[in-house]
Amino acid sequence: MNEAEIQRQKEIKEAEELLFTGPQALGFAKGLFLGRFVADWAMPYPRVPAAQQAELESSLAEVREFLDQNLDPVAIDRAADIPRQLIDGLAQVGVLGMTAPKEYGGRGFSQRAYCKILEEIGARCASTSVFTNAHHSIGIRALLLFGTREQKQKWLPALVTGQQLAAFALTEKEAGSDAANVQTQATPSEDGTHYILNGEKRYITNAAIAQVLTVMARTPVPGTDKTAITAFLVTPDMPGFEMLEGRMEKLGIRGTATGRFAMRDMAVPKENILGPLGKGLKVALTVLDFGRTTFGACCTGAAKTCLRLAVEHANTRRQFKKTLGDFDLVKKKIGRMAADLYAMEAMTAVTASLIDRGLEDYMIETAMLKVFTTDRLWEAVNDAFQIHGGSAYFNDSPLERMLRDARINQIGEGSNEVLTSFIALVGMRGPGMEFKEIHDTMFNPSRGLGKAWTAGMNRLGAAVKVPSVPVKSESLRSQASQLGRLVWRFNLSVNRALITYREPVMDMQLVQERIAGAAMEMFASACVISRLDADLQRVGRNGETAAGSHRAADLFLRQSFHRIRRFLSELTDNEDKALLVTANSVLGKDNPASPNGR
Ligand SMILES: Cc1cc2nc3c(=O)[nH]c(=O)nc-3n(C[C@H](O)[C@H](O)[C@H](O)COP(=O)(O)OP(=O)(O)OC[C@H]3O[C@@H](n4cnc5c(N)ncnc54)[C@H](O)[C@@H]3O)c2cc1C
Repeated sequence: MNEAEIQRQKEIKEAEELLFTGPQALGFAKGLFLGRFVADWAMPYPRVPAAQQAELESSLAEVREFLDQNLDPVAIDRAADIPRQLIDGLAQVGVLGMTAPKEYGGRGFSQRAYCKILEEIGARCASTSVFTNAHHSIGIRALLLFGTREQKQKWLPALVTGQQLAAFALTEKEAGSDAANVQTQATPSEDGTHYILNGEKRYITNAAIAQVLTVMARTPVPGTDKTAITAFLVTPDMPGFEMLEGRMEKLGIRGTATGRFAMRDMAVPKENILGPLGKGLKVALTVLDFGRTTFGACCTGAAKTCLRLAVEHANTRRQFKKTLGDFDLVKKKIGRMAADLYAMEAMTAVTASLIDRGLEDYMIETAMLKVFTTDRLWEAVNDAFQIHGGSAYFNDSPLERMLRDARINQIGEGSNEVLTSFIALVGMRGPGMEFKEIHDTMFNPSRGLGKAWTAGMNRLGAAVKVPSVPVKSESLRSQASQLGRLVWRFNLSVNRALITYREPVMDMQLVQERIAGAAMEMFASACVISRLDADLQRVGRNGETAAGSHRAADLFLRQSFHRIRRFLSELTDNEDKALLVTANSVLGKDNPASPNGR
């Protein structure tokens, strides 16, 4: 094995330890890759339980009224600050501790209900929604999930009531997308009571205003010369904590205080360790599952604002003696925005419900939600901007701010490229392992042909059977069966890619992008069918007429199925080779010996 291969094997082993510990339930995404439609992960469409509905409605009304009266996104952007008064007000209406248990002063809301609240904030001001996310969705999340009873009693009450604010500090110079490469060291003190932290963190939201920071640092693995990441609760009053830059000047979400800080020989009591020693990366990734769900909610809210602004303008601005909304190229944008919005909302609701139901391992689904909603919001902002023409370009336009604000979404909490690759690789692991089982047994029959037979039949079964997509509404049967056929075709394409490329597929990101893209569209379509089915059933019961949103859902399914087909056909019909050769030549990485340009 050469050095690169040894390194690769090491990385795979690390990722496997991190992501695949314990028996894995067959979730929706993993099911897709095996040609199955795991319906109960997406259907029936999750509703907030009746008992919580009244509380949610009253909270929503209270939050809306508060935001309408007190939130000024323009002033926040201009001053590059969220006023303390607003933060206190958000705390008073419960936003800063909404999902925390009532015994610690929170409201005990489900993730699904909390997403509805964050959608409201996201619709108005991205600075405020990112601040809230950093505090609640990721800042106190590790404490909520992994804190001991003592830790929760000690830290949570002040945090959920907003007397103290939280931040989540993972990123460093060497650990951006490569989150596992944290270099901050935490060395146990000689008497074993403390850990001494040394290192620097950067790009940390709320760093300058937080009183409690969840910090990831490397601790020694006892009995070895290795280190592993551990999560620590840190307070900025600890000697050795130094704020290097509290508010880094930036393009968008300017109201948030994004900072960088150093820890120099900073003693942190061992009681401040969150979760198991050496399992900080697992803590971080679990926390980010929650963050990515509320990301989806905030993007949905912002996309609603884009659509509203686009419609208002298209219906009022006249050119060529017509309103802009009379032109098909404007309608194209508005129709697509409405369709995507229906899907963003459905996907957020379904993904949040996976968390609420306590299902196991929804990392692929939260990654899909994050990539899908952030990409679609970016398109929505861009389209709304275009419809507004020159007027969007000036500083008094909300779209000018929204465009700047939306850009972070595709980078933060896992860049969309890294997550796209993750979705494909983790998803393909299921069928990949079955192929490996068949392959290994064929070349080593002493392992027993029974296993290979079972795996082979599983592959074959999936390959010949179109999964059923159960719907109650007669009018949805055709779309449901189209989706079932696409799942079947997707599985064939994944199998073909695995057989054709074998292990090198781990590095073939253009293949991964199409596989992940198709999987994401299928998840989105399943959520849309689930939501539309529930809507249609309600319409049937109440005698309502079909709403415009149903047309948006129908359009989404048509466009999404089209995109899935394109992703799959481009797996074999593409210009990848020429693209890679060109990029390599521009990058100065020419290697004529390489057959596919890599
Ligand atoms: C405003 C803001 C707020 C933030 N808040 C927080 C916070 O509260 N806490 C925190 O811990 N971090 C925070 N971050 C950090 C954020 O999570 C990182 O910026 C992000 O993880 C990307 O890391 P990086 O910036 O170092 O980019 P890099 O890792 O250098 O990546 C740059 C680009 O390279 C590409 N790329 C990287 N790896 C791959 C790959 N494997 N395959 C294909 N393409 C790849 C992607 O396009 C990526 O965007 C924040 C960042 C910003 C800008």
